[in-house]
Amino acid sequence: MIQLYIPLGFLGVIYREIKQSLTDLDKMFTLMEKEREIADEPGALPIRIDASPVVRFENVSFAYEAARPILKNVSFEIPPGKTVAVVGSSGAGKSTLARLLFRFYDVQQGRITIAGQDIKHVTQASVRQAIGIVPQDTVLFNDTVEYNIAYGKPGASREEVEAAARAARIHDFIVSTPLGYNTMVGERGLKLSGGEKQRVAIARTLLKNPPVVIFDEATSALDSANERAIQAELRTAAQNKTTLVIAHRLSTVVDAHEILVMEDGCIVERGTHADLLAMGQKYARMWTLQQSASDF
Ligand code: ATP
Repeated sequence: MIQLYIPLGFLGVIYREIKQSLTDLDKMFTLMEKEREIADEPGALPIRIDASPVVRFENVSFAYEAARPILKNVSFEIPPGKTVAVVGSSGAGKSTLARLLFRFYDVQQGRITIAGQDIKHVTQASVRQAIGIVPQDTVLFNDTVEYNIAYGKPGASREEVEAAARAARIHDFIVSTPLGYNTMVGERGLKLSGGEKQRVAIARTLLKNPPVVIFDEATSALDSANERAIQAELRTAAQNKTTLVIAHRLSTVVDAHEILVMEDGCIVERGTHADLLAMGQKYARMWTLQQSASDF
């Protein structure tokens, strides 16, 4: 019995780690069968969704632990095919928005709807099928690069995989390796840089072709060439998709339909980049700080 308990406990730890960082979703799906925190309502149906649904957070409040509210009455809308970006200090609750949209947790007050349907009342699996996540740090399978991309669409042909890799600008890199698409990657294979892994995640998402995309920007510092590359990739991944960007660099959000500035679980400023600069408050100060930091 002991032998059984230890691995299960260990899996629980891995599961929480993974859920926290939104990284290895695939591994998480398997583990989720072992430990479910939220369950479908009896008789829940799959969400019905078109190619560009509207996403709404309506007066959402949420706490991981009852005594410590994290999100407080948060409302915003991502219009069909548009991008809304969330910025703010560390711990403000940005990633929590992404976790709730992916239905890792159910909200305690308010509701989140996709195409007008409360995600609490439809099946989790259908919500997750509708959403593609480009995580901060993609964990790759110990398998070929082709497998890792094709995972976005089981049964995808080599042509489809290559088309997605080209769009994510990773194709040239792949074919420059001796075994091309058959190159093994992951812990026991070719180690890819953070940017290359993010491109694999984007190719996977493009193949999955979900109506909703969550882009969780990596926190690590980038040089300006890499920063421009990430911006271009974000645009590729977000094209015509209803997109939520969790941003750590303001340069990635300047084109967003709306930017939400979060502080301590509340939206304290919102608007376009130009609106927020004109307001001359927190966002404008963050912008000035980041601009002067990038001058060095
Ligand atoms: P960062 O920019 O550093 O990624 P963030 O704005 O994305 O921060 P969140 O990850 O949403 O912040 O976290 C918001 C708050 O919720 C933090 O204070 C964090 O400690 C807390 N929190 C996050 N996950 C959990 C959890 N599983 N259990 C308890 N508290 C948590």
